[in-house]
Order: sequence, then structure tokens, then C-alpha cells
Amino acid sequence: MPVYTAPTRDTRFVINELLKLESYGNLPGFETATQDVTDAIIEEAGRFVNEVVAPLNLSGDKEGCTRHADGSVTTPAGFKEAYKQYIDGAWGTLAAPEAYGGQGLPHVMGFTMECYLASANQAFAMYPGLANGAISAIREKGSPEQQAMYLPKMVSGEWLGTMNLTEPHCGTDLGLIRTRAEPKADGSYAITGTKIFISAGDHDLTENIIHLVLAKTPGAPESSKGISLFIVPKFIVNADGALGEKNGVSVGSIEEKMGIHGNATCVMNYDGAKGWMVGEEHKGLAAMFIMMNAARLGVGMQGLAQAEVAYQNGLAYALDRRQGRALTGPAEPQERADPIIVHPDVRRMLMDGKTFVEGMRALCLWGALQVDLTHKGATEADRQEADDLISLLTPVIKGYGTDMGYKVATDMQQIWGGHGYIAENGMDQFVRDARIAMIYEGANGVQAMDLAGRKLALNGGRAVQRLFALVDGECAETSADETVQLVSDRLSKVTGEMKAATMWFMQNAMANPNNLGAGAYPYMTLTGIVSLGLMWLRMAKIASAAIANGAEDKAFYEAKLACARHWATRHATEAGALRREIEAGSETVMALSADQFAIA
Ligand SMILES: Cc1cc2nc3c(=O)[nH]c(=O)nc-3n(C[C@H](O)[C@H](O)[C@H](O)COP(=O)(O)OP(=O)(O)OC[C@H]3O[C@@H](n4cnc5c(N)ncnc54)[C@H](O)[C@@H]3O)c2cc1C
Repeated sequence: MPVYTAPTRDTRFVINELLKLESYGNLPGFETATQDVTDAIIEEAGRFVNEVVAPLNLSGDKEGCTRHADGSVTTPAGFKEAYKQYIDGAWGTLAAPEAYGGQGLPHVMGFTMECYLASANQAFAMYPGLANGAISAIREKGSPEQQAMYLPKMVSGEWLGTMNLTEPHCGTDLGLIRTRAEPKADGSYAITGTKIFISAGDHDLTENIIHLVLAKTPGAPESSKGISLFIVPKFIVNADGALGEKNGVSVGSIEEKMGIHGNATCVMNYDGAKGWMVGEEHKGLAAMFIMMNAARLGVGMQGLAQAEVAYQNGLAYALDRRQGRALTGPAEPQERADPIIVHPDVRRMLMDGKTFVEGMRALCLWGALQVDLTHKGATEADRQEADDLISLLTPVIKGYGTDMGYKVATDMQQIWGGHGYIAENGMDQFVRDARIAMIYEGANGVQAMDLAGRKLALNGGRAVQRLFALVDGECAETSADETVQLVSDRLSKVTGEMKAATMWFMQNAMANPNNLGAGAYPYMTLTGIVSLGLMWLRMAKIASAAIANGAEDKAFYEAKLACARHWATRHATEAGALRREIEAGSETVMALSADQFAIA
């Protein structure tokens, strides 16, 4: 049976020592987030997830969701009861706005809970996770009436929400959507069309589901400029808030898929369903992007979450499984073999895993803080800076975070040898569940293009210059601590490679956009390495100071320094190769005709 324990100590380190959340106490919503409050939430969230949600992961994967003869959908055994406890504990309301019944805490706290949930049980976590995006879209673009009608129950978790973009012929290119919205005399619309791959499309967790659906009104432009967004509830909500008749939306089938079996991925049929427009006509994509940006950060965090739980299980096995002897002589001569953690190759995978997981946790929670500062920063300049940084790094958190999450999950499966391939041990589930995060919410190649093709050039490159300034400032101080100085030097070098690659794009992408397309993916990876390096440098500085000040938990801080060195000596080294790959341009990538790709 796989294990999971929420990493509360490391979370507290990031929130209290790295982000210094308490120091933002002058900002709205942060004043109540004192350390005693956030520490208590972290520990209690960890306990809830460990005891209630994690035990349903393997069984939920085996059982999956069921569509019954009457078209209703049920989740795996135990999900409904666990979700009720999640609602009763108000876990979904941590960072939700107080105006709709939320607790109004910083986003960092909501994100911490989401991450624990996703490690413990990604399929389960996706039910409330999808609703969060829907809440953001209604909050920012919905009319006051829509906000009053839907948000309180969505925030409390009594109703959940979905995102309906994808159609059979239309995934990345949303301009192709065919779902139609016919205006009705009463101001509503009749929505007709088929959506596929809809996560949490139907289930038995809540009495109502609020679908957000992209559709086109009559005469709308054919491109993505013609898309509008609609609220389509499963049950129509009467003016008094009570549930009325069942709407014309049904589940055609549940997709059979590689992982996240406990989440109902549905084909949704809209058959003249009653819908209400959110925001302006033809501006649906902008509204949808509000959901998608929130969701992309959430998906990046899923990469971290699967790496985290896989790492915990890889480590447990490496300590327990005995095969062979340490290269330097038996570590436990009284036993017939040493635990496999003695082997440098096993340690390589564990160190890669730990360095990614802890670095990525810091990056994700730092990103969540930027989301808050975008809205709540003290000055316009603070808000602008936070917005620039999180806009730039959202595709990196999503793309690099999920690529690495998958890599760590397969490395941890590798540590289990053949037993990792046997389903009852659960390691294959982490690999299967991690895989989807690289695909949905925009495949990672599309994230790379969002970064290199769109975000880099915005406002004359202001965002990437801010990132460079941040890193340069962090590297400018010299340190007497060897590890800190090593990480600083390497980060400076890696950032130099990224600056050179950025300049190369500026000089070579305009004349030939394929140069940008061919280099976008390695550029995203390079940006990911720089971003984690920034986190490791900050963490190394904190750890070094803590040890110098005689911290009680010395082993914890020493491990931080070792991971920082591991990043500097074994991850930062990839940067030069990535730059050279970018600078190779598109010549070989585009060299063949479509026919020549066939292997004769
Ligand atoms: C389990 C699961 C859950 C999902 N949940 C939802 C959901 O809740 N709501 C929803 O609306 N959708 C959902 N999706 C759909 C998902 O978001 C899409 O599958 C994804 O966006 C890619 O679209 P596609 O599958 O049509 O691939 P395509 O768009 O056909 O792309 C195929 C490949 O081509 C590449 N590609 C395409 N266009 C470009 C480009 N411009 N530049 C570079 N590369 C490109 C992509 O990288 C991709 O690898 C889900 C999918 C799955 C499998």
C-alpha cells in the first residue's frame, strides 16, 4: 500500500522562512495570516488529507467512476463521504473571498491545501480544483446577479463547477468550436453541441454542477474572436436559489483513460440546454483565460504533487529493499545485503527527486504569493511586478513542473525495479496520473510557445527583464558560505545562458518564426532551471544563516544546502546544452518534407 504524509515541515519552511508571509501583514487578507494561524492550518490540512483522502487513492484508481443506465455518474467508494468531510471542514474556502463566504486568506494557503490533496489523490483533488477556476471566471466576469446566484454555493463547495472547452475536432485551436448558443426571448441562450474530455463532468458529490461552456452565437466570427462563455447549470437555479428542473445536459459516456480513474472525464451532450452569457459576447476566450491561468498553475502544482508522493514511496522502498552491497564495502555486514539506498545510482534518483520537489514547492508557493500581490500589492508598481512575473512563469510552472513531475515519478518507479511495474504496489499509478498533467490545460509544447512566442515580447520584454533583475540582484551579494557562493555563481551562469538565448530569439525569430517554434521547448526548460535556481539560492542563504545561528533542526538545513549543491552541480549544468539546442535553430527540425518522415 503506497504511503503519503503531507510535508508540513517543509511547507512551513517555505511559508515562514522563504516567503515570510507574516511580513505582508499590512495587505488585505494577510492580516489574519499570522504564523500561528498558518502553521495550525498547515498541520490540520495535512492531518485531514493523510487520514481521509490518501487512503482512497489506490482503491479509487482500481474502481474508477461509473455511468449508470439512467445516465447518472457515481464516483468510487468513499469519495462522497470524504468530500462531505472536506466541505464540513471548509477546506475549499481557505483563500476564497469573504464576500461569498470564503475565509479570505492568502492564495498561498489555498494552494498548499490543493497540493496536499493532489499528492494524496489527484483524481479526488480535481473535483474542487476545477470549481476554483469556474469561481474565478464568474467572480471577475459574471454579472452581480450571477455572482449572487452561484458563488456562495460554489465557494462553500455545495456545488462544483467544470470547464467545457474541448470538442472532438477542436482542442488547442479553440477557434474551431461548433457548439452553438441561440439567444432566447428571456435573455437566456439555448446551448447545443458536444464537449469531450470534460473533467468532473458529472458525479454524485454535489446536488448541482455549474458548467462553464464555450459556444458561438449566430453570426459570430469563425475564429477564436467569436467565442462566448456561458453558465449552464446541471439543474436550473430558481430566483429564490432553490433547485428547479434538470437542464438539457447529459453525459454520453465516461472516457476510458490511462490514469486519474477516480475523476469522471465525460463526453457532455448539450441539447438546447439553458445557458446564460458570462461577460460580453465574443469575449469568452478572455473570460476563459481567467479560468485557464488559475488552472495552469494548479496543473503545474499537480506535477509537484505526483513527484512528491512518488518520492516518498521511492524513498521508503530504497530504505527497505536489500540488494547488493555498497561500492565502498558492506554498510550493514550483519545482513546478507545492504538497503538499495547505498547505491549511488539510486541516490542520484532520490537526490534529483528531492531537489525538484523542494525547489518546485518553493516556486509554486512563491507563484501563489505573486497571484495575491497582483491584486493586493501595496503599490501599483508592486502589483505590476507581481503580474509580470507570474504571467511569464505560469507556462513554466505548468510545462517544466509537469515534465519534471513525470520524470521524478518514473525515476521513483525505477527504484522499485520490477515491483514498480506491478499494479498492486501503486507506483504505476503515480506515473499514469502524472502523465496527464503534461497534456491538459494546453499541452506543454503550447505552454512553451506561450512563453517564448507571447510572454517574452509583451511590453517590450518587461517581464523577462524583471526576472533577470530579480536573479541578478539575488546573485550580486557575495557569501562566505561555500555552498551559497557556488549556487550563486552557477545561477549567474545559467541566467547568462538564458539571456543569450533570449537575445538569439530577438535576432533570429522575426525573420524565421520556425526558429522560435523549434527553440521554445528548450527555452521553457531553461527558464524552469533558472526559476528553481533562484529558489535554491534563496533557500541556501536561509539554511546557511540558520546553521550559523545554531538552529535546533540542523539536519533539515544541512539537507537544504546539499540539495542546493545538487542543483548547482547536476541540474544547472544542463543550461549550456539547452542554449546550444536553441541556437541550432529550426534547420534540422524543418528539414524533411512530410513524406520523408516515413521510415523506409
Ligand atoms: C483526462 C483529460 C481531462 C481533460 N479535461 C478537460 C476539461 O476539463 N475541459 C476541457 O475543455 N478539456 C479537457 N481536456 C482536453 C485537453 O485540455 C486537451 O486534450 C488538450 O488541450 C490538447 O488538445 P487536443 O487533445 O485536441 O490536442 P491537439 O490540439 O490536437 O494537439 C495535438 C498535439 O499537437 C500539438 N499542438 C497543437 N497545436 C499546437 C501549436 N499551436 N503549437 C505547438 N504545438 C501544437 C500539441 O502539443 C499536442 O501535443 C482533458 C483531456 C484529458 C485527456
